[in-house]
Amino acid sequence: MSAVLTIALDGPAGTGKSSVSRGLARAMGLRYLNTGSMYRIVTLAVLRAGVDIHDAQRVADIAGGVDLSVGYDPDLDQAYLAGEDVSAEIRGDEVTRAVSAVSAVPAVRAQLVQLQRALAAGDGGVVVEGRDIGTVVLPDADVKIYLTASPEVRAQRRNAQNIASGVEDAYEAVLADVKRRDHLDSTRAVSPLRPADDAVIVDTSDMNEAQVIAHLQELVQQRAGAHR
Ligand code: C5P
Repeated sequence: MSAVLTIALDGPAGTGKSSVSRGLARAMGLRYLNTGSMYRIVTLAVLRAGVDIHDAQRVADIAGGVDLSVGYDPDLDQAYLAGEDVSAEIRGDEVTRAVSAVSAVPAVRAQLVQLQRALAAGDGGVVVEGRDIGTVVLPDADVKIYLTASPEVRAQRRNAQNIASGVEDAYEAVLADVKRRDHLDSTRAVSPLRPADDAVIVDTSDMNEAQVIAHLQELVQQRAGAHR
């Protein structure tokens, strides 16, 4: 156990990972790092440059020159591309459709993993959210959590979020997208989505957000306590 607490929180889309990671960081007074936002910012830069997302060399070239930054505050959505606030744009359909292809490019991953390690190592404890945090980015994290939920539950949650933000009800399309991204993320050659051997797997299908946060907080306290 290191002096500062590092928590790796991985899992597929729609497990409530972002809200839960933010809630856990807030409850425990830790910094929060969303690595998905970083892949999304690079993807936006690639799209804006008009580069084919399947042209790995050109994607890597764009990624190499990207000026991106993200914040640590669990209460704010801070994502910047060359100083421009792109926090809303990176959540849009265009970026969401392209991000799996961009994040499968090894050079993109190598670059972002290095940046993620540097950011995680900053001042104070941190909850780092992503797909490969426990396996690749922070293999020595103090606590590794892998959130899961059935594809149907994840699609229902995503669809409900969409409806709440004014997007039309499209459960079947959302379910298809959840399955497509799961497949792409878990079958890519570099850093496929999978739990670390020492991760605690938490199925959130039958839990609400507050229950998951309380459960994880307990788990972190147990694990952290056991190591001290
Ligand atoms: O978490 P979020 O849904 O914003 O992540 C967007 C995409 O970024 C994922 O579908 C995945 O392709 C990629 N990603 C990744 N590794 C991470 C975080 C995200 O490949 N650590």
